[in-house]
Amino acid sequence: MKYFSTNHTVPKVSLMEAVIKGLAADNGLFMPERIEEFDANFFEHIHQMSFQEISFQVAKKFFGDDIPEEILKELVFETLNFDCPIVKVNDSVYSLELFHGPTMAFKDVGGRFMARMLGYFLKGFKKEVNVLVATSGDTGSAVANGFFQVPGIKVYVLYPKGLVSDIQEKQFTTLGNNITALEIDGTFDDCQRLVKLAFLDEELNDALVLTSANSINVARFLPQAFYYFNAYARLREAGIKGDLVFSVPSGNFGNLTAGLFAKFMGLPVKRFIAANNSNDIVYNYLQTGKYKPRASVATIANAMDVGAPSNFARILELYSKSHQSICGDMVGYRYSDGEIRETMKQVFEQEKYMLDPHGAIGYRALKADLKEGEVGVFLETAHPAKFTETVESVLGNGTVTLPEKLAAFMTSEKKSVGMSTEFDDFKKFLLNK
Ligand SMILES: *Cc1c(COP(=O)(O)O)cnc(C)c1O
Repeated sequence: MKYFSTNHTVPKVSLMEAVIKGLAADNGLFMPERIEEFDANFFEHIHQMSFQEISFQVAKKFFGDDIPEEILKELVFETLNFDCPIVKVNDSVYSLELFHGPTMAFKDVGGRFMARMLGYFLKGFKKEVNVLVATSGDTGSAVANGFFQVPGIKVYVLYPKGLVSDIQEKQFTTLGNNITALEIDGTFDDCQRLVKLAFLDEELNDALVLTSANSINVARFLPQAFYYFNAYARLREAGIKGDLVFSVPSGNFGNLTAGLFAKFMGLPVKRFIAANNSNDIVYNYLQTGKYKPRASVATIANAMDVGAPSNFARILELYSKSHQSICGDMVGYRYSDGEIRETMKQVFEQEKYMLDPHGAIGYRALKADLKEGEVGVFLETAHPAKFTETVESVLGNGTVTLPEKLAAFMTSEKKSVGMSTEFDDFKKFLLNK
């Protein structure tokens, strides 16, 4: 399968090239040239399959032409060695818990999958490969975890100083070895801009092999479609019927776009809810048809603090830039920090379910939008303990128990390199390291 650029000015490339390059040479995002549909038979039996088995079938549709079946199978089963269960919160509202992986946020699937796939493509490669990743909080740890101690690969995690939670920061600043954390004196958008500029800089690319592990990378982004198929299967397995609506807490829109791919592959989804925090760029687009990226603002759902969502270009491409078609599959909601807190408190008290700030946005949008006869699933994208300070400030001290997986990070010492938002500083650092 070939991959084309959303900017359409450069030739198509192989999967290998798309994964190693991350971003197309014309600054566009790679898209698979075909989206293959499943037949009815697959959906008839999907509820009898595990998350891993379903993921393997979906992975074959994406990557089956380019990676031998046994290797792809191993890749899926080894990277997805955890569950993503459905939990009923109330009436027709279900939480799809995507935080049972090693770093306890949904980016584990893409981060680990991409690390393994890149490792496969780079087998026998002589030069050192530098993975650049901008993070708003959770990507950094998922990617670092996936690449930790992998020979021949160095990872640089760029994160906005003071804008990620303590636990998030510890998860990528304490590993050491081949993982370097760069603490940027700016926002996530600055981090993302620095990474993109690095790919466009000729001198840097002559000197170093660079790749990206953000959701701009197809190996990071496409595997997120697995979740949606799994949610459908688990509902069917439990005998739950109704038209399916997904609510997706969104920042860079990789997760939601992967859901759209699932729909294009035949998954029966009635609509998607794009749930934003105060960074409501896509919400505004859905209301007005005008896409106006702007500087991000800090919120308590920090992993969604994105002012220029990369994957929006992929959404436009999927729908041939038609605002009307996009609105046929998607509705938008946005919530302030105050509303997020209110929802976390209410759901904890009334339903005994602890939401993290991101999941709370998904839940609230779903409650607002769900109609009679529909079944709603919101994506609970991170474990509440990743945001202990925020969650306890709403629900009370001592309400959050730190899972062992997270507690382990808290005892190690943070190591990071401070850096300005100037591209020249970043470039010098990479050239001189
Ligand atoms: C990254 C992230 C999001 C947003 O996902 P996108 O794919 O960037 O839209 C939501 N919640 C959490 C916890 C995240 O880490």
